[in-house]
Amino acid sequence: MIYLDHNATAPVRPEVRAAMLPWLDGQWGSPSSIHAPGRRARQAVEDARRTLAALLRVHHGRVVFTSGGTEANCAILLGTLAGCGFAGEVIVSAIEHPSILEPCRLLARRGVTVRLAPVSGDGRVDVDWIAANLTAETRLVSVMHANNETGVLQPIATIGAACRARGVPFHVDATQSVGRIEVDLEELPIDFLTLSGHKFGGPKGVGALIIDRQRPLQPLLVGGGQEWGQRAGTENVAGIVGLAAAVTAVAPNLPVEAERLAGLRTVLERAIMAALPECVIFGREEVRLPNTTCLGLEGLDGATLVMNLDLAGFAVSSGAACSSGKVGFSHVLRAMGVAEPLGRGALRVSLGWSSRPEEIEQFTRRFVPVVERLRKMS
Ligand code: PMP
Repeated sequence: MIYLDHNATAPVRPEVRAAMLPWLDGQWGSPSSIHAPGRRARQAVEDARRTLAALLRVHHGRVVFTSGGTEANCAILLGTLAGCGFAGEVIVSAIEHPSILEPCRLLARRGVTVRLAPVSGDGRVDVDWIAANLTAETRLVSVMHANNETGVLQPIATIGAACRARGVPFHVDATQSVGRIEVDLEELPIDFLTLSGHKFGGPKGVGALIIDRQRPLQPLLVGGGQEWGQRAGTENVAGIVGLAAAVTAVAPNLPVEAERLAGLRTVLERAIMAALPECVIFGREEVRLPNTTCLGLEGLDGATLVMNLDLAGFAVSSGAACSSGKVGFSHVLRAMGVAEPLGRGALRVSLGWSSRPEEIEQFTRRFVPVVERLRKMS
């Protein structure tokens, strides 16, 4: 099986597995215990916090470990608005992940006004719209760094600057970008940031929310007081160590690896466009993550295409494939104004650390006959 679905999850890196094993086998202390096994676990968690903080260039006191991107996103939205008595407004983009859009629906039911920022036909969030819609009632703006379906990078520096000018807190869901491209919080005007370990070779079920200590958040999980009271519950020590090991693996190599993946993606897109010139590459005119391509083939069904590629030995995904079994027309492509017959045939191919040139070559060789066969059948 050739795995080309890194935006769903990446294979766990061997060095991550090796770093985690001692914390599952032998070193099982709780970081809250004051005896020696507990102190060792605490040290491991704090070392991991510093490793992650160094990658993002933030103070380690801003790192709150979570169970992943979903929890961090829910924590920032629900926590910020709970602190405001569920009064006021939030602005998020129309192409956010469901872990942003669903808590927004909950907030709307509690009386919060939720405004959805539109995007261009190429999937770029409208900065001017956001700047024009900031009011004295805006409690939070949340825009993702890289879209999980198209890979389009959003103008977070400009949005952050507009928010700073109005004193509005700005959150960025960087689940798809951290570990793949540089995210420098010393440079960027961002107050809160979400990341997740499993998109770049760490384990599933661990991530972090970068907080702003000057802007206290009402915690989602309360009870044990861990993570400075921001996230109660005994820490996932092995997972946190694994996340840090993934950071250590990617950090020295980010630009080189990004260039390698962008090169592979160019080969893939050129080969497909040469054989199927009617194919649309969503967000092609925008700056994108180096690893992602989202293709549209009118008249085909994305899920059928994925199943047939699966039978041919390739793991890719269609539309919004983050949640299992989800088929249909993605809200991202809809927001971009993509017509339904084209959007339903959307296919996402996402590369990563395990991707090799021969895999791309095999994929492009098999892809075209699969498409042609499906077209004949439909
Ligand atoms: N945000 C984005 C943009 C994502 O792609 C994902 C994962 N599909 C998440 C959040 C959720 O992250 P996790 O799987 O770690 O909960």
